[in-house]
Amino acid sequence: MTATKAWHGGELRWDHLDGEWTVLAPGRAARPQGAAAPCPFCPGPGEDTPPETWRLPGERPGSWQVRAVPNRYALSDHHEVIVESPDHDWNPATATTAEVGNVLLAWQARHRALRSHAAQVVLFRNHGAAAGTSLSHPHSQAVGLPVLSSATRRELTVMREHYDRNGRSFAAEILAGELSSGERIVLADGDTAAFVPFSPAAEFEVRISPTRNRADFAAVPHGELDGIARALRTVLAALHTELHEPAYNLVLHTAPVGLEHVPYLSWWLRILPRLTIPAGLELATGIPVSTVLPEEAAKRLRDRVQDPGSQEVPARQREDAG
Ligand SMILES: [Zn+2]
Repeated sequence: MTATKAWHGGELRWDHLDGEWTVLAPGRAARPQGAAAPCPFCPGPGEDTPPETWRLPGERPGSWQVRAVPNRYALSDHHEVIVESPDHDWNPATATTAEVGNVLLAWQARHRALRSHAAQVVLFRNHGAAAGTSLSHPHSQAVGLPVLSSATRRELTVMREHYDRNGRSFAAEILAGELSSGERIVLADGDTAAFVPFSPAAEFEVRISPTRNRADFAAVPHGELDGIARALRTVLAALHTELHEPAYNLVLHTAPVGLEHVPYLSWWLRILPRLTIPAGLELATGIPVSTVLPEEAAKRLRDRVQDPGSQEVPARQREDAG
């Protein structure tokens, strides 16, 4: 009872009991941990990456604002690092909306580029050691997977069945419910809304959803991307201040390859702060435990968003953040 799939020098193995794939990527064990000196992502003589696959040029000739390179310690041939800024201490929580927008632009471009080789392209950002970051230079990652995970399949089934029954996308209905109750809303600005989910997977989990239903994140027009960048930056700033620069994972949920135009899916962003380590109960049952009520978490973040003064990061803390 074994199923395996060879995969670019690594291997995917299927676990019949869990009903999920495991990626075996022994090459990743060699990746540097902590502060590599010199930083391979900082522009200059110490810069050391495979040849870049994409760049958003900067104003000076030869400079860049965001660039993508193959991941040297890859999970697969289709695993890229998106270097989010030439500035080693850049942080989306304290950046401008335009800078965060540039990163989202890179996410769109690399999603489109990798999807021809994949069943599912995953985009994520790990922030802080507790979230699994091995290099401190700000970066996110894009991975093209040759299979759909069971979690993705389950999500697709729920979304499709809901649409077939109700003629309305599940994501749109959840968002409408959150907007009408308001108690878990962090911010809502017309095009985009951020809320703490009714049943969060971690303390202070936040979802950012577009009010316009669209399955494919890569198809979001430039004008709308601006609003998403503003919402993302604002939520990250609120988390940064309220929780004192927490570690977090930012994950994009978007349509798998071939389902970019279905009416029952909608893309969304998920921010999962890493405040506690999943322990025995979570591991034994898969049931997350959250020690903060989502309504309380939303109120604390909403207060930060509504009082911009409270979002300013003191200069000293900004220096320490590197
Ligand atoms: Zn650097």
